[in-house]
Amino acid sequence: MINNPPLATVLIVDDSPSNIRVMAAVLQERYRVKTAISGQQCIEMAIRHKPDLILLDIEMPGISGYDVCRELKRLSETQDVPIIFVTGRDNIEDEEMGLRVGAVDYITKPIRPVILSARVDTHITLKRQQDHLLKLAMHDQLTGLYNRHYMLETVDRKIARARRHSTPLSVMLIDLDYFKKINDTHGHIVGDQILEHVGGFLNHQCRIEDTVTRFGGEEFLILMEPCSLNQAHYKAEVIRHQISELKPSGIPVTVSIGIAELNTEDSDFSALLKRADDALYRAKDAGRNCTMLDEIRPLTQLG
Ligand code: GH3
Ligand code: MG
Ligand code: MG
Ligand code: MG
Repeated sequence: MINNPPLATVLIVDDSPSNIRVMAAVLQERYRVKTAISGQQCIEMAIRHKPDLILLDIEMPGISGYDVCRELKRLSETQDVPIIFVTGRDNIEDEEMGLRVGAVDYITKPIRPVILSARVDTHITLKRQQDHLLKLAMHDQLTGLYNRHYMLETVDRKIARARRHSTPLSVMLIDLDYFKKINDTHGHIVGDQILEHVGGFLNHQCRIEDTVTRFGGEEFLILMEPCSLNQAHYKAEVIRHQISELKPSGIPVTVSIGIAELNTEDSDFSALLKRADDALYRAKDAGRNCTMLDEIRPLTQLG
């Protein structure tokens, strides 16, 4: 059976119910239509429903369409949602302003169904393509996990948040032991299957707040927040033990793990990563199939 992709969602925002009715009638057969009758409601619904496109009126009581657009472009949750102004203002200055505040298109009323339909279709197609490319760029094809690029793109924000809220944040580096030998013995395809299986296991093991990434060839990185070094240590030992019993593709595998917790001395992510990597190196040096902690204790444990 072929699964059709879910219908794209279009949020129609207009203070006039009859305008909403006209636009909804044009779009509802092909799209999931949501409606809002004010700027405030639009912002709330955009955050909640993550629409694929917003059709936005300009003149509304309360917040104007321009200000709604500015706010949506400012918020990280909504800044990628394309916005088309649909408005009675048909002069060039308003159109220029609409595009300047971040809209992708500008349609004037009275609404002409064929034009509305065509422009919505175009921008939905572009949005879908953009989402698809973004997903490809951020994920590892083999395991489906997030990739290194995603981690490096998002980690600074997570570190800033952890610092702001004074919550502990830890990094766990997990590296398969003697993986070259596994490839040499069983072949690259089996090696791939093992990576897939271990990746799936790690993803399943972790909490929704944890970010599991395939960080390199046979190396995984888990960013955990909130999670102290001690909590991460406990978790690492559970993971390490379970992987030693996993036998993906019938082959026994083990991992070595290095862990570090963010401290106030870390200038950026690379400082934290280096400490986790050093700990991983010591785990390899100690004979593999073991977990090592960063030597520098996090400041939360000092005193
Ligand atoms: P150590 O215990 O020190 O980590 O030894 P190792 O053999 O695991 O480490 P090394 O860095 O020497 O080799 C890593 C191996 O992982 C070599 C590389 O071919 C393999 N590898 C990396 N990416 C992939 C992949 O996508 N698929 C497969 N099948 N193998 C991979
Ligand atoms: Mg209006
Ligand atoms: Mg290895
Ligand atoms: Mg490695």
